[in-house]
Formats: sequence, C-alpha cells, structure tokens
Amino acid sequence: MLTPFRKKRSSRQKNARRILEEQNVTLPDADLSFLFQRDGCRTLRMTVRADGSVRVKAPASIPWENVLAFVRSRLDWVREKRAFFAEHRGVPAPAREGSTALYLGRAFTLRPVPARRNARAHFLGNTLELPCLHPGLDDEARDRAVERAFLRWRLEAAGLMLGRRLTRLDEHVRKTLGDSAAAHSLTVRSLKRRWGSCSVRGDITLAAQLVEMPLPLIDYVICHELCHLRAMNHGPAFHALLRTLLPDAGEREKLIRIWGLEHPRT
Ligand SMILES: [Zn+2]
Repeated sequence: MLTPFRKKRSSRQKNARRILEEQNVTLPDADLSFLFQRDGCRTLRMTVRADGSVRVKAPASIPWENVLAFVRSRLDWVREKRAFFAEHRGVPAPAREGSTALYLGRAFTLRPVPARRNARAHFLGNTLELPCLHPGLDDEARDRAVERAFLRWRLEAAGLMLGRRLTRLDEHVRKTLGDSAAAHSLTVRSLKRRWGSCSVRGDITLAAQLVEMPLPLIDYVICHELCHLRAMNHGPAFHALLRTLLPDAGEREKLIRIWGLEHPRT
C-alpha cells in the first residue's frame, strides 16, 4: 500500500484531511451512492468493496460531468461486483469454545481450559488449548474470555511467524534484485481493511490475520510490501519487480482476494 505522507501525522490530522477531501454522492435515478475523492492520480478509478460500497477517485483535471458519465457507464459492472461479493462474502465468526480456526491454512479447534499462572496457549494435536477460564464466569463472560485469549494468541503467533518470514524474504529479495533496500521495522496488528502496508521509511505493517493463510499467500503479501521499498505505487515498475520475485504473483493475488471474502477478518 502507498503511504501518502512523508511526515508522520497524527490519526486525527489524517482523518481531518480525509474528511475534507471525500464527499458522498448519490445518483437517485441510478440507485447508487458513492464516496468521491479528488487525488493526484492520472486516471479515473472506481472500486467496489466487499461490503458493496463504491469509491470513485479522479484527478483534479477531469470535469465533474465526465466523472458522472464514467460512473454511469460502469453501473452494470458495479451490479456484477456487488452480486459476486453478496454470493461469496461470509460473516466473521467469533472465536468460541469448539470453533474452528486456521493457522497456515490448516484448521484446528479451540479448547478453553482453566487459567493457571504462567500457562500459555499451546497446541495439542489439532486443538489449541487456551488457558483463560476463571471460576464463576457466566456464559457471556466465558465467550469474551475465549475471544480475548484467542486474539492474544493469534497476535503473538503472527508476530513470531511473520517476523521470521519477513527477515528471510527481505534478504532473499535483496539478493535476487541485487540491491540494498531493506525493511526498517515490522508491526503486526489486527487490520480489517488491508493485509499490509509499507511506509517510505521502510516501516512494514502486516495484518495478524495473515497467519491463517497458506504460506504462498503470506509470502505474496510480504513480497508485495518489500517491492514497495523500491516502488511506492502500483505502476509497471512495481509489477515487474513483483513478477521477478514471484512469477505467479497474479494468481496469488486472485487467491488472496477470494481468501479475504471467504474468511472475513475479525
Ligand atoms: Zn501495495
């Protein structure tokens, strides 16, 4: 992902900037509302998100009438996209006793057990034992405790796994491309809307939910962010780098989109 600010801004400043630039537009005759934004890109762009919402971005040079004509010309495409998402999109399932979760694409079952001093979550075969139960919890409190313990475990597991993978791929990418660009830092946290991002300084953020994916898809996301150390946008130079590293990058990208729809993030 592109981080648009060279100077760090507070999230309040970022939000203020975003709100100023965005506006909600409704086309009553076409039964469509979309979020519109002027930006520094060269072309008009339209995206439909998995929740069905539509965003349109346009350079300042394109007149409003042309933007509207563009949107109207793509109404069938919006309908198709929304139908696809409605068919494929699941609902994030909360972590509960006996529910199934994934690690590197493999399924396992959650089993809450009584909390003990220094006890940590651990695998027993295909079961992840989560020491999180205290006497006297009602059903609701028990569910919350399981959810919290699971998310804590996932964040820790993701930090370890993604950290190791990033170190390995960072070196591999430098060797393959024959340059010295290197990641500066890694932050792993629960992200709802993207799998990863990379700042101009080389600070990489990855979604904790990535640990659910099979390794080839995780590697795609990491390589994608490492390519942003060399090309900050998604232009031809970026894609050429990515294809050098992963000749099947296009296939992996498609699989990640489907993965995201079938396994909504919590
Ligand atoms: Zn990107």
